[in-house]
Amino acid sequence: MAVNYIYPEQEIVRNYDRCIACRACERQCANEAHEYLPEQKKMTSDDAKCVSCHRCVSICPTRALKIVRTDHDFRKNGSWDKKNIYEVYKQAETGGVLLSSMGNPLDFPIYWDKILLNASQVTNPSIDPLREPMETRVFLGAKSQDVTRGADGKIIPKTTPQLELSLPVMFSAMSYGSISYNAHESLARAATELGIYYNTGEGGLHEDFYVYGANTIVQVASGRFGVHREYLDAAAGVEIKMGQGAKPGIGGHLPGKKVGADVSRTRMIPMGTDAISPAPHHDIYSIEDLRQLVFSLKEATAYKKPVIVKIAAVHNVAAIASGIARSGADIVSIDGFRGGTGAAPTRIRDNVGIPVEMALAAVDKRLRDEGIRDRVSVVAAGSIRNAADVVKAVALGADAVYIGTAALLALGCHLCRTCNVGKCNWGIATQQPDLVKRLNPDVGYRRLVNLMTAWKHEIEEMMGGMGINSIESLKGNRLMLRGVGLNEKELSILGIGHAGE
Ligand code: SF4
Ligand code: SF4
Repeated sequence: MAVNYIYPEQEIVRNYDRCIACRACERQCANEAHEYLPEQKKMTSDDAKCVSCHRCVSICPTRALKIVRTDHDFRKNGSWDKKNIYEVYKQAETGGVLLSSMGNPLDFPIYWDKILLNASQVTNPSIDPLREPMETRVFLGAKSQDVTRGADGKIIPKTTPQLELSLPVMFSAMSYGSISYNAHESLARAATELGIYYNTGEGGLHEDFYVYGANTIVQVASGRFGVHREYLDAAAGVEIKMGQGAKPGIGGHLPGKKVGADVSRTRMIPMGTDAISPAPHHDIYSIEDLRQLVFSLKEATAYKKPVIVKIAAVHNVAAIASGIARSGADIVSIDGFRGGTGAAPTRIRDNVGIPVEMALAAVDKRLRDEGIRDRVSVVAAGSIRNAADVVKAVALGADAVYIGTAALLALGCHLCRTCNVGKCNWGIATQQPDLVKRLNPDVGYRRLVNLMTAWKHEIEEMMGGMGINSIESLKGNRLMLRGVGLNEKELSILGIGHAGE
């Protein structure tokens, strides 16, 4: 008799007084957690198959379902909690590395929630954003140190053209393959309507999306999947991915079952093969090597597109960012350890990297101290959840932020954290045609536009409350921030005072 060492994490609770046995939950669950029993004319469920994506709960016409966390537990043990015990059971069964997706779910401090914003009261009056103009536009890229004019009086540009954003938020790198065609279309259309950018990730650019090129950042990662001349030509900017917050120090992995015909053509890899990008770029072992790639990409794009270098937030991030600024890159993007992903080894996701709040503050300070802050823009990523996080990030020194998980939530993601399995019931992290169809890009793109419109209003309200009418005046303005419940060291790294100071 097989022994089940692992008790399901969640239980499906069905209210039989409400259930009309319409079988919608059975049809909608790609994990086959629900089943109709014809002889008894009733539904049943298998808790062990449920991943807690809440698709059935959302679709049930009679609200007959709820998913609850099980209260079944081990005897209390200060050293061994349920998570650690179950992980040992799983590895004893499979002999494999544990895989997860989305961001680090552990209970580390979230510094955004320990930082409070200022507001004007008597002097330096607040600004009413409904009645007075507010500037949320930002420009990303190296800033010219001096201005030279030609005989006609026009400025002769000395730097690569910048990326113009209507608000300081972009959609972060999510590859076609890890997410669906419809999810990509939603992001591309929303970025275009909003006047911001979305990012292809390391999966190449599907030919259907070349029309959104003016609002597309294309990625060049260690696997070079889907990188070719037209790909670079199509984009507004090019991002070199050196690291990712969810899995610093290791490469990417797209399971072969997600590599169908379209994904294989776009990535330029055989169908059904695992797409594994190496941990390092095999041509980069120093800042000089990075500089060569930066300038190769600039050369390939006629110096018309800014180059972004994306790194994971790690211990010596400030020194690394300083090197990147000197490598000729126009923008450095820092991805914190809470950043999402389609698939990552659990141990890496949960134990490697540092919070982006700390990394961002350290990078901004170092670049200012070295007098090179204007050489690059800084983009913060990995745990931006709402408009207040955006405002705090800008005040800590970011020119803009990337959002990934928040964008997926807008598309319907319920954070079940099983993207790596490829059976996303919300049509996002899947390539199964029947599941992809569940995400209507007309609806998806509108929800993303709505989310960003709401955040823009909130950003304007918070800035107005501080008596600030432009993002540029907020950038690096730490006087607008105070910490609560933080120790001296944390306050010093963040470069902010404590509440009451
Ligand atoms: S969707 Fe709701 S009403 Fe329909 S079978 Fe499932 S639990 Fe019952
Ligand atoms: S994208 Fe889909 S599979 Fe991934 S966490 Fe969200 S709901 Fe779950």
